[in-house]
Amino acid sequence: MSLSFPISATVRAPARFVDRSARPGKTDFPVRYGLLLHSRHGPILVDTGYSRELWALRGIQAALYRRLLAPTLRPEGDVEATLARHGLRAGDVRHVIATHLHPDHACALGRFPRARVHASRPALAQWAAAPGLLDGAHGLLRGLLPNLPGVDAAPFEDDPDVPLPWGGRGRDVLGDGSVVSVALPGHMPGHSGILFAGDAPLFYAVDVAWTRAGYRRDEDPPYPARLAVADLATARASAALVRRAEETGVRVALCHDPEPLPEDA
Ligand SMILES: [Zn+2]
Repeated sequence: MSLSFPISATVRAPARFVDRSARPGKTDFPVRYGLLLHSRHGPILVDTGYSRELWALRGIQAALYRRLLAPTLRPEGDVEATLARHGLRAGDVRHVIATHLHPDHACALGRFPRARVHASRPALAQWAAAPGLLDGAHGLLRGLLPNLPGVDAAPFEDDPDVPLPWGGRGRDVLGDGSVVSVALPGHMPGHSGILFAGDAPLFYAVDVAWTRAGYRRDEDPPYPARLAVADLATARASAALVRRAEETGVRVALCHDPEPLPEDA
């Protein structure tokens, strides 16, 4: 089994947008996704990162989103380019885990029509809801999401309940204990982290914070990062859960942490 976190794109922004103690100046924040090459279940994607589909979307919400975030794609980090380096194609992927539905996580979901999509019930409910005028404001670009009735969607909540190394419970996504979903609400409805179990467990805490300082310090993110948090109170509790995980020796990885990860690809 091998785990990597390819970088699909970068977003350049003042570091102080996300961390008030950061030095002045801009930082290139990576946009990661996860690829686990599972010995039994084959390639498993955790999100899909940004991709060209973002630029194919029409409408004012998509245009505004592109203007505000202005991501720079890394062609070598495209999800299919990554798979190709492992001799794999999109059709080989049987499982895609969607941590939440923000465009930087869900851009290329439509390329995996044969995969089972694992996500939390609140995320699936948001996906199934009727389009709303505020979708863009909530960071939801529905044009990126495949039609839900045509998706083999598997709610985390239907998976077996298992204990977590730091206390609390998670859900065993594949039934063999190797990949465990952990509810991390607050950032977006149904936002979930993924614990990769094994000898050296790694907890992918996704967007619970932009940098390690963001969850290690018990304080809310500064503006404008705070605007991207759907519910501050639950986000605080989720950050505390990640701190607990780290205190028990579990390594934590974040989607946008500018510090390189050993698993960056
Ligand atoms: Zn997000």
